[in-house]
Amino acid sequence: MSPFAAQEVNEGPMVQELRRVLGRLETALSAISDALVITDDQGLVIWCNQSFDRFINQPRMLSLGRPILPLLPRDHQGEPLLAAHVIATASRLPGSTTVLLQRQPLQACEIEWRPVDSEEPAPVIFCIRDISSRISNQELRATAERIEQQRQNSDRLNRELQQQQLALANLVRECSVTGLPNRRGLRERLDLALEQLSQRDGLLGVLFCDLDHFKDVNDMHGHQVGDALLIEISKRLQESLPADATVSRLGGDEFVVLTGRIRDGSEALAIARKLQQRIGEPWLMHGHHFTPSMSVGIAVTDDPAAEAEELLRRADVAMYHAKRSRNESIALHDTSIEARFSASRRVHQELRRAILNQNLSLAYQPIVSIQDHAARCNSHESDSASGDGRILGHEALVRLRPEQGLPIDSEQLILEAERTGMVLELGSWVINEGLRQLQPHPQRPDHWSLAINISPLQLEQSGFAGGLLQKIEAMAIDPRRLVLELTETRILKDTKTGIEALASLRDHGVRVHLDDFGTGYASYSWLARLPIDGIKIDREFTAALGRDSRRERMTSSMIRLGLDLGLEVVAEGIETEQQRLALQAMGCCLGQGHLFGRPGELP
Ligand code: C2E
Ligand code: MG
Ligand code: MG
Repeated sequence: MSPFAAQEVNEGPMVQELRRVLGRLETALSAISDALVITDDQGLVIWCNQSFDRFINQPRMLSLGRPILPLLPRDHQGEPLLAAHVIATASRLPGSTTVLLQRQPLQACEIEWRPVDSEEPAPVIFCIRDISSRISNQELRATAERIEQQRQNSDRLNRELQQQQLALANLVRECSVTGLPNRRGLRERLDLALEQLSQRDGLLGVLFCDLDHFKDVNDMHGHQVGDALLIEISKRLQESLPADATVSRLGGDEFVVLTGRIRDGSEALAIARKLQQRIGEPWLMHGHHFTPSMSVGIAVTDDPAAEAEELLRRADVAMYHAKRSRNESIALHDTSIEARFSASRRVHQELRRAILNQNLSLAYQPIVSIQDHAARCNSHESDSASGDGRILGHEALVRLRPEQGLPIDSEQLILEAERTGMVLELGSWVINEGLRQLQPHPQRPDHWSLAINISPLQLEQSGFAGGLLQKIEAMAIDPRRLVLELTETRILKDTKTGIEALASLRDHGVRVHLDDFGTGYASYSWLARLPIDGIKIDREFTAALGRDSRRERMTSSMIRLGLDLGLEVVAEGIETEQQRLALQAMGCCLGQGHLFGRPGELP
C-alpha cells in the first residue's frame, strides 16, 4: 500500500488536507521521467515512483520493503548502487556516479543520492536518470570496453585474494582470545556430531549460551577486563562439561556447547543448569567483583540429516526467549517458543512499517474523580473541578493498525519497541499527537489533563526535557495539563540523566506519575528517589480487591502512603462498582478503568 493512501478512519480536516497534498505530490513525482527510490538506512525500499517500476520492470508492490540491491540491473562495475548506498549512509554525504547498464542497447545512467538529514537514522533518496542520449554511441562503446578490461583485471585480483583468504581461514579454526574453536571449528564439530547420530543411539544437544550484560563490562571496565572475563568463562565452561561435550566461542559473548550423546531434553537442561551455576560464581579482577550470568537456549535432535545451521538457529531462538523471560534463564526450543519468536518478529515488522507510514493512533481512556472532594486528595485541581465521577483527564494509549493479521497487543508492542529502541520514534510521535490535543479547545474544560506514557529510554535521551518544554511553549500549552506516566516496571538505567530530566520538567509544571505502582522490584525505593507528583496503583491490585485480603491491605497501605507523601493517587483497572467503593473507602482519589470508560476517541 502506498504510504500516502487514504485511511478509512475518521480524520480531522488537517489530516485529510495533508493526505490530499501528499497524494498530489505522489502523482507529480510519479509523472516525472527520472526513477526515484527512497530506502531506509539499511537499504530497504520504503518508496519508489512509477519510473522506477519501469526501470527495473517490476511492480512496486514487489519492491517495497525489499533490499534495493537485488532489484537493480547488473552493470559492468558490479554493484554501484550498493557502493553508493554505503557511501551515502556511512558518510551521510550526498553524491553521484555514472554507470553503464548491461542492456541491449547499452544504457548509461546517472545516479544521485542524498540522505534525508532531518531524520535519524537517515533514509536515502536515489534519483536515477537515463543519460544515454547525452553520450554518443562511440563513446558508449569505448567506455564499455574500458570497463570490461577493468573488470577482468579486478576479477583476477579478487580470485587471488579469495584464494589467500581461504588459505588463511583454513588455518584459523580457533578464537584468538580463548583458544576455543571458533564458528568454523564449531561447524566442523557440529557436522561430525550429526553424522555420528546415525551410528549410535541418543540425541545431540546444542546449548547456545549468551552472557548477560557483557557489553556493560566492556564499556565500564575496558576490553582487557572483557577479554579476561571471556577467558575465565571459557575455562569455567570447559571444567564443568561432561567428558564427551565440547564448547566453542561463536563470537562476542556467545558460546556454543555440543553435549555429546544424551537421553532427552531434560538431560540437556541439567547440563545447562550446571554450567549456569558454575558461571554464576563470583569473579575478582583488578579489585572489581563480578557475578557473571548467562542465558541458555537449547535445541536437541536425533536426526543425522538435521541442518547444522537450523539447529543453531533454534538454539539461538530459545536463548533469545530465555533472555527475555522474567523467571527462566534457560529454555528448550519447542513449537511455542518458535511461535512466540515469529509473533515478535511480526510485531517488529509491523512497528517498523507503522512508524514509517505513520500508521499509528491514540486511544484515550478517561481518568475520573472517585471522591466527593478531590481537594482532600492532594489533587492539583480546584474544588470546582472535583466531585465523584467527573472526568478530570484522559490517558493516551498508543494503537497500531497492522497491515496484516490480528490486532497487536499494546504491551507486546511497547516491549518490542523498547527492545529495539524504536520506542524513541514511537514515543516522539505519541508526544506530538498528545500535545496537539492539549492545545486550547472549546470542548475541553480548563482542568482537563492528558497523561502520556513515556519510556525510560526517552527520558534518558539527552535533550528530552528541553525539547519537550520547547514544544509545550511553542504550542501555548499549560504544562500543568500534561502528565507523564513513567512505568515502574521498566526501571531507569541511566538514573542521573533521567532524574534530572524529570526534575526539570516538574520545575516547569509538568506532572509526573509513577505507573503500575506496586508491581516492580523496587517500588518504594523509586518512590523515595524519583521526583514525582503521583502514583498509579497497578490494575493487578484493583483486581484483587474483595478476593485477596493480603493484596487488599497492601493496596490500602499504598494509598495511605501516597496521600501522606502529598501525592496524587490513581487506581487503574477499575471494572466494578465494588472495586470503586472499596478504593473510595481507602481514600483513593482518582480512578481509571472499564467501569468509567474504555480507551476510545476524545469527546
Ligand atoms: P498502562 O499505562 O498501565 O495503561 C493501562 C492499560 O490498562 C491499558 O492497556 C488499558 O487499556 C488497560 N485498561 C484500562 N482499564 C482497564 C480495565 O478496567 N481492566 C483491564 N483489564 N485493563 C484496563 P493497553 O492500552 O493495552 O496498554 C498497555 C501498556 O502499554 C500501558 O499500560 C503502557 O505501559 C504501555 N503503553 C501504551 N501506550 C504507550 C505509549 O504511548 N508509550 C509507552 N511508552 N507505553 C505505552
Ligand atoms: Mg499508563
Ligand atoms: Mg498502568
